[in-house]
Amino acid sequence: MENTFKDKVALITGGSSGIGRATAIAFARKGTKVVIADWIENEETMDLIENLGGEAVFVQCDVSKSADVKALIEKTIATFGRLDYAFNNAGIEGTSAPVQDCSEENWDKTIDVNLKGIWLCMKYQIPVMLEKGKGSIVNCSSVAGLVGFQGLPAYVASKHGVIGLTKTAALECAKLGIRVNAVCPGVIQTPMIDRLTGKKKEAEAQFTSLEPVGRFGQPEEIACSVMWLCSDEASFVTGIAMPVDGGFVAQ
Ligand code: NAD
Repeated sequence: MENTFKDKVALITGGSSGIGRATAIAFARKGTKVVIADWIENEETMDLIENLGGEAVFVQCDVSKSADVKALIEKTIATFGRLDYAFNNAGIEGTSAPVQDCSEENWDKTIDVNLKGIWLCMKYQIPVMLEKGKGSIVNCSSVAGLVGFQGLPAYVASKHGVIGLTKTAALECAKLGIRVNAVCPGVIQTPMIDRLTGKKKEAEAQFTSLEPVGRFGQPEEIACSVMWLCSDEASFVTGIAMPVDGGFVAQ
């Protein structure tokens, strides 16, 4: 793959941990300038990128807050002058309960971060990409955006919503040089999964048993897919929801 990433600019939300962190590092390895947006700063990620000889800036941002997201895009342009790729990845799992027991607070918070957050990001990213007539956006959905999961109604609804939103943005941008896709990770070994399993062997085994490949995915395996979707090799790919899931939704 020709390195078309060098000196471009990538924005990654939720870049302080897990999948976002791995993707920020993968972009930096290719010489892409990286904007890491998160509501929690992780100095280790920034140090690692610096040690790789990469360039990165951290912006504190709650993706569910319009003013924060607007300021994030302004800071990106003020710092690097352009925005080529966006990985809208920040997300929360919320709390676990069946539909009738899901609290209104959990519903609102999960939808606000996972769905409204992605809409807000695209709302401010698309205009700056339109100025250059080129860009690639990848939104983080989940296998929970493709099938139902008992006990996670708000999370599942938010991730299904991300796919509808992605398809709509892809159609609106199709003739304007901007591609918009979604990635649908299976069970990936990150702090989010650790919170869901409580790092208990039995719970981990239950999650692993959901995966036909018989193991958790690694954050780097999602990062590779995001990089491909952003790359010119994927120039005819827009509006898809790509499972990267060890065969999960093939069952
Ligand atoms: P993670 O908890 O390790 O990382 C999520 C990051 O998002 C954290 O750094 C967190 O601080 C940040 N974040 C959360 N809410 C935010 C907000 N409002 N504003 C800014 N930053 C915020 O989890 P992860 O597993 O790396 O998850 C990344 C994405 O992948 C999420 O959207 C998640 O739903 C999705 N996903 C994860 C899995 C999995 O198995 N780990 C599977 C499918 C989809």
